Amino acid sequence: MKIICIGQNYREHIKELKSKVPQQPVFFCKPDTALLIRNRPFYIPDFTKELHYETELVLRICKVGKNIEPKFAESYYDAVTLGFDFTARDLQQYCRKEGLPWEMSKAFDNSAAIGQFIPKEKFTQGVQNLHFEMKKNGETVQKGDASDMLFTIDRLISHVSKFFTLRTGDYLFTGTPPGVGCVSIGDRLEAFLEGEAVLHCDIK
Ligand code: MG
Repeated sequence: MKIICIGQNYREHIKELKSKVPQQPVFFCKPDTALLIRNRPFYIPDFTKELHYETELVLRICKVGKNIEPKFAESYYDAVTLGFDFTARDLQQYCRKEGLPWEMSKAFDNSAAIGQFIPKEKFTQGVQNLHFEMKKNGETVQKGDASDMLFTIDRLISHVSKFFTLRTGDYLFTGTPPGVGCVSIGDRLEAFLEGEAVLHCDIK
């Protein structure tokens, strides 16, 4: 199982991080040890002083595929949920500045929290039109609309599958909307997909 994450896929988030608008999808991977499931708490690691949440729509891959054409991409995932792409922002800024790989800031243990999957058929409006929201300590801090993605889900699957064979059980994080921010010990994060609570996480 692998976790593929898209970066810089919402214009307003690109602005808040002062990044450049990419010409093609930006992606990176997290290992299986990054997975955090069943609403388990997240323990802030001691190597960062700036741990950020990024709330993202996550797809579950349901069949093997390589060089998938955008028009067939939809058949390669069967369910969606929300996830937190936990990021050590201070380390990420350091890696970016030095031109180093991102893994230590993005792919550490428990950095990929995922919620309860919902079959995609349940969403008659289509996955590309889903809305989501994240509340930190009861206050909405992120709102996402999948139709604002710079690169559509079909395009993401097509692009990523040129480089990696997708397999059943892989996960695709599709990028974060604006509103990312720091977490502290004692915080509670709650994520809602079309109003339905699918993921929560206590920060320890
Ligand atoms: Mg992200």
